[in-house]
Amino acid sequence: MSKAKIMEVFRSVQGEGKYAGVAQVFVRFFECNMHCVWCDTPNSIGDTVRRYDEVTLDELWLKVRGLWDRCHSVSLTGGEPLLQEEFIKAFLPRLKEAGMSSYLETNGILPRALEAVIEDIDIVSMDIKLPSSTRCRPYWGEHGEFLKIARRKEVFVKAVISSATEKQDVLRSAELVSRIDPAIEYILQPNYFDRQNGVVGKCLEFQKECARVLKNVRVMPQMHKFMKVQ
Ligand code: SF4
Repeated sequence: MSKAKIMEVFRSVQGEGKYAGVAQVFVRFFECNMHCVWCDTPNSIGDTVRRYDEVTLDELWLKVRGLWDRCHSVSLTGGEPLLQEEFIKAFLPRLKEAGMSSYLETNGILPRALEAVIEDIDIVSMDIKLPSSTRCRPYWGEHGEFLKIARRKEVFVKAVISSATEKQDVLRSAELVSRIDPAIEYILQPNYFDRQNGVVGKCLEFQKECARVLKNVRVMPQMHKFMKVQ
């Protein structure tokens, strides 16, 4: 693939997970293979609005380098970046050569694509998509395969908890992670749009349940929503 479909390239702070608060250059890839009901980047899904630039490796590299200025890492985000795995595979060595860390934000359901790029990825921020949260079909098998590959590098997982999230989904996901490695950090994220509906309380309850099988379970908000940054 000589060009990628890119929605935007910008500098901001990471809003979620273990590295919340660090400065990053974000590369937002267009299009997603899921339709989470609470998606916070709906224009990246591609159903209704199809707005993106077709960008070459050189063009993307120039943009990233221009924004870098001692950032922590370059976040490949979306949409689902692994849908454009060939381009990412070709792009990652440029980051490596320049001493820039790569940080993959992914829905965690494309293990074959991850396998193709994992060698040059530094950090994987992997979502676990709970069917009662997303209103999509379950992806337990894909998530399990994906996490086994991702743990060759630094990886943490996170799940959005909404007022519709069912305890059985959270427990199943915690067991899935625990079977692979109980030390993998698991972050429960109260859905910002649902925050008046008791989701923080649910997260605290789920944290106790997950701690039966996992060593490091955290409850963390999606900070960028509160700070009103991208
Ligand atoms: S996986 Fe991410 S980008 Fe895709 S629909 Fe779900 S929340 Fe949106």
